[in-house]
Amino acid sequence: MPQETILAADLVLPVAAGPIADGAVLVRDGRIASVGPLADVRRGAPDAEVRRFAGCSLVPGAVNAHGHLGFRRQDKPASAPFSVWLRELISKLPEKESWTAEAARDSAREAREAGTTYMAESSPYGECLPQLAESGMAGTVHAEFFPGDYSGMGPQERVEAIFESVRKMREGLPARVDAQVSVHSPYTVDPVSAGLAAVRSREEGGRLAIHLSESPEEVEFILEGTGGLAGIFESNNWGGRGVSPVQYFEEAGVLGANVIAAHLATAVSEVDLGILKATNTAAAHCPRSNEYLDCEVSPVPRMLERGIRVGMGTDGLWSSPSMNLFEETLFAIRLHGMSGALGLELATLGGARALGIDDETGSFEVGKHADLAVVGVAPEGGDAEMAIVEAAAGGGVAATVVSGEFVYNQTDS
Ligand SMILES: [Zn+2]
Repeated sequence: MPQETILAADLVLPVAAGPIADGAVLVRDGRIASVGPLADVRRGAPDAEVRRFAGCSLVPGAVNAHGHLGFRRQDKPASAPFSVWLRELISKLPEKESWTAEAARDSAREAREAGTTYMAESSPYGECLPQLAESGMAGTVHAEFFPGDYSGMGPQERVEAIFESVRKMREGLPARVDAQVSVHSPYTVDPVSAGLAAVRSREEGGRLAIHLSESPEEVEFILEGTGGLAGIFESNNWGGRGVSPVQYFEEAGVLGANVIAAHLATAVSEVDLGILKATNTAAAHCPRSNEYLDCEVSPVPRMLERGIRVGMGTDGLWSSPSMNLFEETLFAIRLHGMSGALGLELATLGGARALGIDDETGSFEVGKHADLAVVGVAPEGGDAEMAIVEAAAGGGVAATVVSGEFVYNQTDS
């Protein structure tokens, strides 16, 4: 894109401000230089090239706060209960190696073509980083590590090893692609390793991705030490703590403002919500995966009332039907009876806040990266946000722009 370009459409939804009819975004050096009615934006930049998307709306690009790229839908494991699904997933890992890269490429393409401009991805040891890096999307791969893989090493050495490998993974990455660590879950990572990794992540100023309070079996394992997740990966013997997963991870020192906790779906109590708020831990809401795996419904409206940061996540294609974050969001809107405006906010600025990147993306505000989706609908009146989320959920994204560059474009503008 030329140095200065005006992207204009029938409707512009900045999310951080109200809708603008016949609106425009001025992009300069990949960032947003102004937002407003086209006539005003043009007056401030008379030499800029104008690209007008007739019959379309511009919205901030979707921020996927929790996804996995390395799965493909055709051999998705059978549904619930969670531990049966997970054991089937684990049994398929050896055969999966031959197609993980292709699946990651396809998943990334699907996300990009659905208007996703930033993705927080989690994969074992960060295996999907090459595919995220080549996708054109901005994002972070969170490298999951499994203590059972490090025979003969103590927790401190394991944590050093994973952080060292992530440090090496960061070399040579595109500008807005990063690698960080994930503590996979309370039932796969022992509390000492989990706590040490969290300390290390905070010290580095990094972000930590975790799965938390996802399934009834996770809740049972942490509370009683029993159930389908006891003995998973052959080596977890730290269950039976008599508390909830949220309380357990707080005691282990894992929670904090740099943590994005996926799911928070099952048995999340008011005490748990109080802990999430007090520690400023953020949530990634993945309702379609939760439904597929027979988990409960995450109490998202109560989280929002308490001021807990919430973003949306697709999870991966072995528990979710698509990598389209707007489709995930439409499901959440219907599940919780939310407005279209709240849904659109969760899919964009909410995700950016949850990931601590709202100073760089998530809304149309001057200085942020020009990350946006062109949606092929231009609602007049009614619930414009709902109409746009519905269109984007149904394949209506016509173009996706990351830092001012088209990474997908089906328009003829
Ligand atoms: Zn996940």
